[in-house]
Amino acid sequence: MQWSSRRMKTQASKGFGMYEVAARLQSQGADIIHLEIGRPSVDTPAHIKEATKQALDDGIVHYGELNGLGELRAALAERYTRHYGAACDADEVLITNGVTQATFAVFMAALDEGDEVIVLEPFYPQHNSKIEFAGGKVVPVPMSAVNGRYAPDPERIASAITPRTKMIVLINPANPCGTVMTREELLSVAKIAEQHDLTVLSDEVYEFNTFDGRKHINFASLPGMRERTITVSAFTKAYAMDGWRIGYAVGPRHLIADLQRVTMNCTTHTNIFVQYGALEAVRGSQDCLQEFLAKDQARRDIVVSRLNTIPGITCPAPEGTIYAFPDISALGHSGDVLAHYLLENAHVAVESGNFYGSNGGQHLRICFGSEPIERVEEAMERIEQALKGGLTL
Ligand code: PLP
Repeated sequence: MQWSSRRMKTQASKGFGMYEVAARLQSQGADIIHLEIGRPSVDTPAHIKEATKQALDDGIVHYGELNGLGELRAALAERYTRHYGAACDADEVLITNGVTQATFAVFMAALDEGDEVIVLEPFYPQHNSKIEFAGGKVVPVPMSAVNGRYAPDPERIASAITPRTKMIVLINPANPCGTVMTREELLSVAKIAEQHDLTVLSDEVYEFNTFDGRKHINFASLPGMRERTITVSAFTKAYAMDGWRIGYAVGPRHLIADLQRVTMNCTTHTNIFVQYGALEAVRGSQDCLQEFLAKDQARRDIVVSRLNTIPGITCPAPEGTIYAFPDISALGHSGDVLAHYLLENAHVAVESGNFYGSNGGQHLRICFGSEPIERVEEAMERIEQALKGGLTL
């Protein structure tokens, strides 16, 4: 019997890179330090857990509104209006199971077979697999890299546009390269979107993960972008709620209504009591944001300074996110070879840059936010030892 649909032959089956290999080794008893997966190391703040428990105790256990809890959508709309000057109301917000479901809904709602989507390279591969799953075609456009800092390249983006181009995907702050895009960089993308009448999907899941006082700029707040932008974000990274699976999409009413038609066909509602935790995250104390950011910045500084002492590795300081993206080209081995070498010889799991596009092969992606600071320090020690005197393959 031919069971699988053609859709199953897309990239979607590629999985989660090194995480699966590392998990296998760990199940055999190895003490693996996980710097490959973007999973916060800290616990979810207590006041968020309390609000969730309270909702359960109050018997809030039944289906809620299809597009998400009204109070939560209103609180998010208010935050967008206040923070970003991108005036919006509760009907322009859809609550989802993380950014993952929000982006899935966007691609399913927007793409016809063969529609092209521009993603900036290095990219986030999970977006690409969803684009292909929805029948679209991924068009990777390399970012420019000056002194190791990646940035959108307007000329390359403009020259990649064809009559089939439907959308540009931005990730800002950017995973894996850690760039926090400047207003000028974002305006250069906005100009192209306007000229070619394109939708922009702006993945802002790291909006609160910006270092050295940098400010994140919401793409939809740029002149003329409100009507053509779908912003997706989540409680995942900033509030350490990755396992809760709660996020949202913000955009023009008619696009949000389309997204809801997609979520109706998979999960219908988002978990109701988790939404009360999310409401507390938006309305309650925001102290955790600064506290977590300070921890991430301390770990970033350790990783960057330690990596830069290793001959053959150059690591620019990421401006945001929880990832370092060191250039390892001078070591003379690919990211794939080095990532496997470090897993086997140092029991440190990192991701090969190759996972993030063809120009990533000379990089590793190292998540400094996924383990406590002592473990991150130990990982750097192990990496240094394993690379002393070069690779013995
Ligand atoms: N988008 C980007 C750029 C990410 O890095 C991640 C997770 O690492 C996600 C989306 C997934 O977010 P969520 O867990 O909220 O679905």
